[in-house]
Amino acid sequence: SKSLGRCCFRHFDLSMQVEAMQRRQIECDLRAAIVKNELELFYQPIVDVRDNRVHTFEALLRWRHPTRGLISPDAFIPIAEETGLIVEIGEWVVERACRDATVWPDDIRVAVNFSPVQFRRCDVVALIARTLAAAGLAPDRLEVEVTEAILIRDAEATCVVFDDLRRLGVRLCLDDFGSGYSSLSYLNKFPFDKIKIDRAFVSDMHNPKSLAVITAITQLAERLNLSLVVEGVESEEQLAILTNRGIHHIQGYLFSRPRPFAELLPVAVRAPGK
Ligand code: C2E
Ligand code: CA
Ligand code: CA
Ligand code: CA
Repeated sequence: SKSLGRCCFRHFDLSMQVEAMQRRQIECDLRAAIVKNELELFYQPIVDVRDNRVHTFEALLRWRHPTRGLISPDAFIPIAEETGLIVEIGEWVVERACRDATVWPDDIRVAVNFSPVQFRRCDVVALIARTLAAAGLAPDRLEVEVTEAILIRDAEATCVVFDDLRRLGVRLCLDDFGSGYSSLSYLNKFPFDKIKIDRAFVSDMHNPKSLAVITAITQLAERLNLSLVVEGVESEEQLAILTNRGIHHIQGYLFSRPRPFAELLPVAVRAPGK
């Protein structure tokens, strides 16, 4: 049993080494990807179903890898966060998104995801202020999406930053609401404009309990005067249930998958080319 133990240990050790090597490879490729312009923003509409118009486009990052094809953010954002590369990537994302949004009609906003690591490692307020100014985008056209993870650590510092962002005129959206360690106290403590119900509740909507949670969140948002979005809506049936509950801002494959900027026409009215 002693030799077996050693064998297992060696196997474990080896697989950890392989994993570490793979991560280093991705990190290295990711650094190169930034320089080689392989990162790209896709956009997915959030539709106001009362008039079927695009209310917001959410920017969703993609990595167009020369040999591996389109890589989804879940495959590289965690590594970007661990290595700190997310700071540089995040700057690029918000700059690109704000410039892209200037091409759309004025009543369409852009939503940008921010990682907790960005808030910890860089001055997000200064970044956003200078980016809006450089792009010439009105602050109220930018929505900053954060998840609950950011509220756990450094709640006080985060609150100060959020207040500054609000003063700047930017909107704040609490993403994936209900998926993590949701605490209702967040909604009072932090100055959110909007919450986005996690898509897990939608895919589980046939379950009366999930539906009850959606209904409760809807009422809560109404009382607290928060806007509400539901993401992950894939069927007409889901849509009907949500609109029956007074939810009008819908995001999901039912309306559109995330698409490259150039394919958002005819929504974009002015020529891109920047
Ligand atoms: P998220 O912010 O919750 O974004 C929504 C995700 O749900 C997107 O996945 C979107 O493609 C997907 N989705 C939208 N509608 C539907 C639907 O009807 N059905 C299903 N099954 N999925 C739907 P995506 O683009 O792969 O992004 C994954 C996550 O990566 C995002 O989740 C976000 O947390 C992160 N992410 C994406 N772009 C950025 C970025 O620029 N910065 C940071 N920090 N994170 C990002
Ligand atoms: Ca989001
Ligand atoms: Ca989300
Ligand atoms: Ca998510």
